[in-house]
Amino acid sequence: MEIKRNILLNPGPSTTTDTVKMAQVVPDICPREKEFQSIMAPMREDLVRIVHGKKEDYTSVLFCGSGTICIDITLNSLLDAGKKAFVINNGSYSQRAVDVCKAYNLPLIELKQPIDTAPSLAEIEDVFKTNNDIGYVYVTYHETGTGLLNPVKEIGEIAHRYGVFLITDTTSAYALRPINVYDENIDFCMASAQKGIQGMTGLSFIVGRKDIIEKSKDFPVRSYYCNLFMQYDFFERTGEMHFTPPVQTVYAAKQALIEYFEEGEEAKWERHTGVMNAIREGVDRLGFREALDRSVQAGLVSAIVYPDDPNWDFEKVHDYVYERGFTIYPGKIEKRGTFRLCALGMITDADIREFWKVFEEALKATGVSIPVRYDK
Ligand SMILES: *Cc1c(COP(=O)(O)O)cnc(C)c1O
Repeated sequence: MEIKRNILLNPGPSTTTDTVKMAQVVPDICPREKEFQSIMAPMREDLVRIVHGKKEDYTSVLFCGSGTICIDITLNSLLDAGKKAFVINNGSYSQRAVDVCKAYNLPLIELKQPIDTAPSLAEIEDVFKTNNDIGYVYVTYHETGTGLLNPVKEIGEIAHRYGVFLITDTTSAYALRPINVYDENIDFCMASAQKGIQGMTGLSFIVGRKDIIEKSKDFPVRSYYCNLFMQYDFFERTGEMHFTPPVQTVYAAKQALIEYFEEGEEAKWERHTGVMNAIREGVDRLGFREALDRSVQAGLVSAIVYPDDPNWDFEKVHDYVYERGFTIYPGKIEKRGTFRLCALGMITDADIREFWKVFEEALKATGVSIPVRYDK
């Protein structure tokens, strides 16, 4: 079977291999059979291994849902009574965490920081100094809206000095950039199968400290479906998800993990870096500007500022390249028109060079002058 290969430059789901796509085509199976459980156990271990956790210290808990389910679950399940959630808000994904806290009416300390530079560690430490009732600190590892890399290791170091654990949303960095939970002071991280591991949508997972999850047994239960301890406990006792898992997506994830370990952490990161370098070459050649300085970027997302050319029309350019197999995506920065090119998925620098040719054609076809123009 021939499957058309699309190059997805949007921030997930990402381009997958045909072997991952085809892994979903399996005989019908009831997920309560031992045959299915025998897939879940090694998968839970592999997911911990990707961020270099040891089995004694860290575990992984899988859920059926998109990546946001992990933000919801960690925030609502890991806050003890009488404690406050501390969220560092410097982008649209940390704003989502703030919204989750508000939806659950959690006592919240929100520290707003600029979206285009690293947050102030001094201001973060001040929050710890002046509040002795913080349950956890939450920070987005890589803000996918802008491409910003947060100093998670440093924030975790401060948190640990004050006896507080750290939750970080690694959805757009996990299995992309090498992450080590010990070196980076990470107590909880998360991702979904459609991003770094190059699987399908509908399966998400939290990797976190076993001792804290076990302690959270006595924390207030704020959700029935989205509770971390309950799902963990069910896995530990039965080896399966509490409710129906996304069966075919699990088969795809199994294949994706085989391919992840075959490619290897370093080689994969090098490939993504090659893709990002090719993205930046095109940005520079056509005269585009990025919203963020490259020195603060994670190297996985480029947020490109709309040029001031009156003929620039994102929708038209999008449709032109889309018809030719390339998907680009609008940005998430308020007040400023941007679009994003992401280095996720099973793509290479050669794909990006091909992309820029088509993109340049699109600019010419829509009458945008090259190099592109900015008024100031
Ligand atoms: C993709 C992503 C998520 C999850 O988004 P969904 O739309 O729920 O899949 C969460 N956090 C970050 C940083 C992401 O990039």
